[in-house]
Amino acid sequence: MPSFTVPVALHTPSHSGVGDLLSYASDRPLAPGTLVRVPLGAREVLGVVWDAEDATGELPEGASLRAIAGVLDGVAPLDRPWRRMVAFAARYYQRALGEVALSALPPQLRDLGPAQLARRLRRPVPAAEHGDDAIQNIALSPEQESARAQISSNPGPFLLFGSTGSGKTEVYLRCVQEALESLEGLEADDRNGIPAQALVMVPEINLTPQLEERFTARFAPRFGRQAVVSLHSGMTHPQRLKSWLAAHSGTARIVLGTRMAVFASLPGLRLIVVDEEHDPSYKQQEGARYSARDLAIWRGREQGAKVILGSATPSLESWHASRPPTPEDPGGGRYLRLHMPSRIGSSIGAGALARVRRVDMNQQPRRTVFSAPLLAAITERVARGEQSMVLLNRRGYAPVLHCVDCGWKSDCPHCSAHQVFHKTDRTLRCHHCGYTVRVPRHCPTCGSADIHPMGRGTEQLEEQLATLLRNVVRPDGQAARVARIDADTTKAKGALEAQLAQVHAGEVDVLVGTQMIAKGHDFRRITLVAAVQPDGALFSSDFRAPERLFALLMQAAGRAGRDAAYVAAQGTRSEMWVQTWHPQHAVYEALRQHDYEAFAARQLKEREEAAMPPFAYQALVRADARTQDVAQGFLTGATAAAHAAQLPGLPDGTVILFPPVPLTIQRVANVERAQMLLESSSRTTLQRFLAAWQPVLQATRAQPEHKGLVRWLVDVDPLVI
Ligand code: ADP
Ligand code: ZN
Ligand code: ZN
Repeated sequence: MPSFTVPVALHTPSHSGVGDLLSYASDRPLAPGTLVRVPLGAREVLGVVWDAEDATGELPEGASLRAIAGVLDGVAPLDRPWRRMVAFAARYYQRALGEVALSALPPQLRDLGPAQLARRLRRPVPAAEHGDDAIQNIALSPEQESARAQISSNPGPFLLFGSTGSGKTEVYLRCVQEALESLEGLEADDRNGIPAQALVMVPEINLTPQLEERFTARFAPRFGRQAVVSLHSGMTHPQRLKSWLAAHSGTARIVLGTRMAVFASLPGLRLIVVDEEHDPSYKQQEGARYSARDLAIWRGREQGAKVILGSATPSLESWHASRPPTPEDPGGGRYLRLHMPSRIGSSIGAGALARVRRVDMNQQPRRTVFSAPLLAAITERVARGEQSMVLLNRRGYAPVLHCVDCGWKSDCPHCSAHQVFHKTDRTLRCHHCGYTVRVPRHCPTCGSADIHPMGRGTEQLEEQLATLLRNVVRPDGQAARVARIDADTTKAKGALEAQLAQVHAGEVDVLVGTQMIAKGHDFRRITLVAAVQPDGALFSSDFRAPERLFALLMQAAGRAGRDAAYVAAQGTRSEMWVQTWHPQHAVYEALRQHDYEAFAARQLKEREEAAMPPFAYQALVRADARTQDVAQGFLTGATAAAHAAQLPGLPDGTVILFPPVPLTIQRVANVERAQMLLESSSRTTLQRFLAAWQPVLQATRAQPEHKGLVRWLVDVDPLVI
C-alpha cells in the first residue's frame, strides 16, 4: 500500500521541545486543513493536517512513522487563510503552532471520533427557512449615511468614531447587509460554494444576546434564522460546535461573538466588525495572549475582508493609526477615521449628554468618602423615583503611595511612571525601569506620617452608602434600596441577569458596582452616575490607566439619561459626578467637555515624548517560581545569555531589556511572580529579537540553577504593565 507522509499540527504541551508539527503516515494524500485523529504517546488526539512547506526538521533515517488513526471526512478542510492566520498568531505571540491551531477549534471537536462526528453531522438540521423577504431598513441619519458610504467605497480598515447612542450598531447592520448581498450574483464556484459571511465581535458575553436579537430581527427575514449564530465561552460545548460547524460550512452568514470568534473558520468572510474596540477584554490573558482586535486587522487584510473598528473612546493605538494626513505627515495613518459625533434623536432636543459635576475633595472634611453635595444629589434623585449608579474602579490599578497632607506621590525619579507599593518587603518599585527604594516612614516632602496606598477603603462603600441613605424615602414611601453588582455578587450562573432585571424593574434605587455595570447595559431610569474615588488611576504605574479611566467614565456618563423621553418627562437633567482631589486634571477637563479628541491628543503627545506605545512596541516576560530570587534569577540569566549571544537588536540598542521586578501582586498560591519589560521602536525588530530569544529562554530554563522555576511566558503587546 502506498504511504504518504503528512505534517500534522497537534496540541503538544508548550515548551515541551516537541517541534511545531509531527509527521504521520497516511495511505492516501490528505489536503492541508483536513482534520484527523492521530496517536500521540498513549493517547489519540485531534490534529490538523498542515502545509508541507511549514514543516521543519528532517525525519531521522529509517524512522517509521505512526499512522493516522482516522480522518474527519465530514468536515471540509480548514482553508488556507485560516491556517495562515493561526500560523501568524503563533509566531507573533510566541506560542506553538499546534497549541494555537487546536485551541482555535471548538472543544467538542477534540473529543469526538470520526464516527461520532458523522452521527452528529447527520442529525437533521431544522429545515432552512429561506426567507428571501426584503430587509426592513430605517432611514439613516446624515452622519450614518456618510459613514456607510465611505465604508462602501474604501478598502479600510475603518475606525468608526461615534459617541454612545450615535447609531454605530445601525451602521454595522447596513454594512453587514451590503457585504452579504455583494456576492449574491457571483458564480458559486469562485468561492467553493460558500456565500459571503460577516463576523461581528463585542467585548462581553452579556452583550451578545441583545446583539443577537437585533441581528436576527434584521436578517432572519432575508437569510433565515439559521443565518445568525453566536460564539462565546458562555455557550455549552455542543452549542459551540454547532455554531462553529455552521460558520465553517457557510450555513451561518453572520457570526456574533467575543474575542475567541476571531479564530472562527469563515471561508466566505467579507467583513469584520470589532465593536468597542478599545475594550481590554479583546486581549486574551492566558495561553496565547493574542489581541482579537489586532488579529482582526491582520485577518481582514489577508482574507480580503473589510474591517470596521468602532468606539466612542478608541484605543490610542487605533486613534493614532487613523490620524488624517497632514503636510508634515502626508501618509497619515493606515486606517480611515469616520466621525459620528451626534446622538440619535438629539435634533429633537432629547438624548443630551450628561452634565459633568466635579467635587473638589480638597474642600471636603478630611476622610470624606461620600461628599455632602453628591449625597444630596443622590437623595434628591431617590426622592423623585430616579435611579443612580455609583461606580468603583478599584480593580486593576497598582497602589501608589501618597501623602494625605501634602499630596506627595511615589514617583519614579527616572521615568514618567509611579513607583508601586509592595507590602511584602515594604519597598517602592518602578515597574518600568526597576528602580527600588524602601518605603519611607514619613512623607519625604512634608514629614507627615499620614502616607497610604491610594484607593484604599472602598470595600465598605455599599454599607456606608446604605447607612447614609437610611432615612431617604422613595415616592412610594419605601426606604431607598442600595444594591451592589460586581464579580463577587455575580459568581453564580444567572446571578448577573437576575440582578440586572431587578435594576430594570426599578427595585433598586442606587446601584453600586465596578466596571462591569458601566458597559453597554441600557438602564432607562438612571439619571445620575457617580465615580467616587477615580483618582487612583491617574497615578497608576501602568501608563494606560488614565486612558482606561477616561473610557470608563465616558461610558459611564453614557449610561445616564439613555431614555430621553424619560428624562424629559421627569423634567430632570442627567449628571455624571466625579469626586476628585485633582479637579483640574486633564482627564476630568476632557470628560467635562465630552472631548475625547482633546484627551487623545494630549495623551499621545505625552506618549510620544516618553517613547511609549503606540510610538514604541513592548513585550513582557513573566517568570513564576518558588522564590522571588529564582523567578528574577531566571529573567536575569536569560537577559545575560541574550547579550552574550548578541541577539538582534541588542548590540545596536534598538531593543532594550529592563531589569526584572516583582509583580504588583507578587505572590499567588505560594508562587512568586516576577516580570521584565522589553521595548523597541520597531515592531519588526522586537519580533526578530523574540524569535531568537525563545530557544535561549528554553536553554536557560534547563540550567540547574533555575530549578525552582515553575513556568515562564511571553506577553507581546501587553495591555497591563
Ligand atoms: P450605538 O451603537 O452608537 O450606541 P445604536 O446603534 O445602538 O447606537 O443606536 C442608538 C439608538 O438609536 C438605538 O435605539 C437605535 O435603534 C436608534 N437608532 C439608530 N439609528 C437610527 C436611525 N437612523 N433612526 C432612528 N433611530 C435610530
Ligand atoms: Zn506630605
Ligand atoms: Zn522608573
